[in-house]
Amino acid sequence: MTDTSEPAWFPIALRLDDVRVLVVGGGMIAANKVRLLLAHRAKVDVIATRLDDEMRRWGEDGTITHIATTADEGALRTALPGCRLVYAATDDRETNRAVAAIAREMNIPVCAVDDPQPSTFITPAQIHRGLVRIAISTGGAAPVLARRLREQVESSIPEGTGELAIFMQQQREYVGQACPDISRRRRVWETFLDGAGAQAARQNETARARAILDDIIAGTTTRGEVWLVGAGPGDPDLLTLRALHMMQNADSVLYDQLLSPALLDRVRRDAELVFVGKRRNRHTMPQEEINAELVRRAQAGQRVLRLKGGDPFVFGRGGEEIEALLESAIPFQVVPGITAANGCAAYAGIPLTHRDCAQACMFVTGHARADGTLHLPWDSMARPGQTVVIYMGVSALPALCARLEEHGLPADWPAAIVERGTRADQRVLTGTLASLPRQAASAGVGSPALIIVGEVVRHRVISPA
Ligand code: SAH
Repeated sequence: MTDTSEPAWFPIALRLDDVRVLVVGGGMIAANKVRLLLAHRAKVDVIATRLDDEMRRWGEDGTITHIATTADEGALRTALPGCRLVYAATDDRETNRAVAAIAREMNIPVCAVDDPQPSTFITPAQIHRGLVRIAISTGGAAPVLARRLREQVESSIPEGTGELAIFMQQQREYVGQACPDISRRRRVWETFLDGAGAQAARQNETARARAILDDIIAGTTTRGEVWLVGAGPGDPDLLTLRALHMMQNADSVLYDQLLSPALLDRVRRDAELVFVGKRRNRHTMPQEEINAELVRRAQAGQRVLRLKGGDPFVFGRGGEEIEALLESAIPFQVVPGITAANGCAAYAGIPLTHRDCAQACMFVTGHARADGTLHLPWDSMARPGQTVVIYMGVSALPALCARLEEHGLPADWPAAIVERGTRADQRVLTGTLASLPRQAASAGVGSPALIIVGEVVRHRVISPA
């Protein structure tokens, strides 16, 4: 919901060529605005008692026009009708507010610098790469945050993005004629952006970029493919850049209940979301049907994202899904994710290996067979000097702990359980093989949860607040 007590700024981009803009103020704040306006080819009139160095030089060489010295009502009412925007940029808030009041009364958009309340427009922080412009704003509420975000976004934009935009502008009409169908055209550009063509355009190798574009236009069929992608254990910040990229380019996304809603929020809005979740003993869609669905969609030309919790190749049945794709000759890509063991260990502060006590780490599944039995390599699990991480072990926790004791681990051997690891509501319980089942039961620990067995649990570290 929009908070109506704060103004909701509507972003637009203005063309300022030859537009007359009034700047009130002659110091550094005003000079910063004037520099920006001049770069956008605006005509700048200035009202200021005195002009600082840079402003004075602009005044002397006619770059700007110093039309008056005092920003009194008479001067403003004379100057304003010819102007389309006003910056109140003196270092005096009251003066700026008085200017803003008159401008608003005369229906001329005004920005009182660093004072959103009387302003009718603001100038956001900007990233500028040729034709590409990204504006970032907190509506004047937290300018330092906006600048920090700008740095973050800026560092993620590849070198040569301005050149790439120009190339695409130049080829737009050509591609439009070659591919009248809009969805095919979009596919052509996306293929281009994902491949060597975009790289060539970024480096200004126009001829090569054009040749690659032609290849794509000639060869693009509506052949789909499947991306088997690990989404990590829950915290969206643990997505890989590649996973995020694919989430923003897929036509449809098949996901199951292990995926937190926070992750699905990152999927392209017009992608089709298909829930294929399996709950224990309550199969929404059997694995064979999921495989068939992947094949069917890819054959229909879709780019299908099979989004998996954690890593697709760690208890993720990724191997089975790929075999089905291979049988139908569907092209695929596999993208790793942070598996629950890594995510839970890090967020719970429990190392998986430790020089003093764990030289190895074993991942096992605690999922019982249909007849309720657990088939695990008990003898190799019940050894000192290693960590055992048990996936899917919540319901079998008492049996797991009992069997490990039977096979030789002491009752006071450390063990932990991490529920909903890396998510906002993560819970961690630490204890021993003897105590953990009781602790988990009384705390009502549910799925997904990961069990960590070994002396590393004693080395758990929690950051000071
Ligand atoms: N491919 C996944 C594992 C799928 S098996 C991965 O690599 O992580 C499902 C099991 O993973 C769950 O029963 C639980 O043991 C574990 N798991 C997955 N996400 C988890 C989380 N956020 N917190 C704790 N355990 C998790």
